[in-house]
Amino acid sequence: MKLTLLGTGDFRPYRPLGSAGYTLTNGDDMLQLDFGRGNLVNMAKSGIDWTVLHAVCISHVHPDHISDLFQFLQAWTVTNAWKEIDSELVIYGPRGFSAFFEHYRTVLVTTWDKLPQIVEIYDDTFTVQGFTVTTKSMQHSTDCNGYRVEAGGKVLCYTGDTEINSNLLELAQGADVLLTECSGKNADELLANQYGHLRPTDIAAIANQSGVKKVVVTHYPDDPAERELRIAEIAKEYKGQIIRGEDLLEIDF
Ligand SMILES: [Zn+2]
Repeated sequence: MKLTLLGTGDFRPYRPLGSAGYTLTNGDDMLQLDFGRGNLVNMAKSGIDWTVLHAVCISHVHPDHISDLFQFLQAWTVTNAWKEIDSELVIYGPRGFSAFFEHYRTVLVTTWDKLPQIVEIYDDTFTVQGFTVTTKSMQHSTDCNGYRVEAGGKVLCYTGDTEINSNLLELAQGADVLLTECSGKNADELLANQYGHLRPTDIAAIANQSGVKKVVVTHYPDDPAERELRIAEIAKEYKGQIIRGEDLLEIDF
């Protein structure tokens, strides 16, 4: 599989970085995890063709994870209506996602001649193209899915946004890649306990207990010194490979 990081920043766009969004490819199969700020522009920079994207998994509906989703849907619906492309699309989301989508569909003005299939799914396993995907509910300030994606004998676990919890430990078990948010540094106890986010010490604990092969750090502040601090804090407690996520980075595994 190949993982492309389309956005590694958080909700504060102080620097020109995208927010949560990741493309997984396995041969001709492509799966998008979240669809945040700047993801479409970074897709173009990465040479990823959005017209062949048929499956999207959303962790939760905070804007930093979905802000480019509706721009993508405008492109998808209108180009289908104009017969420029002829493609199917399914979007998976957490508890409450169907009602959320329907609300926005009725207020956002674009051509909805063709509708994507919306699947609300959590604590379940499904297959899409060549991917087997397992979801488990995470612990965030709103309903949130973590995802375990398996294809070609490889496994990636994506945390979404969450505090440390036993479902995440199950999802990450033996994964080749743990793609993890890192919204807090270790001193940010309030962030972890009140808003539901992971700190370096939490990430190290999950990585050690689940036996993941490598950790890819994302969803952290744009400031390079802050990023270094978080990587260093993880490295104190986890001795496996740690990849410092940056926009447009591609990881083959
Ligand atoms: Zn977030």
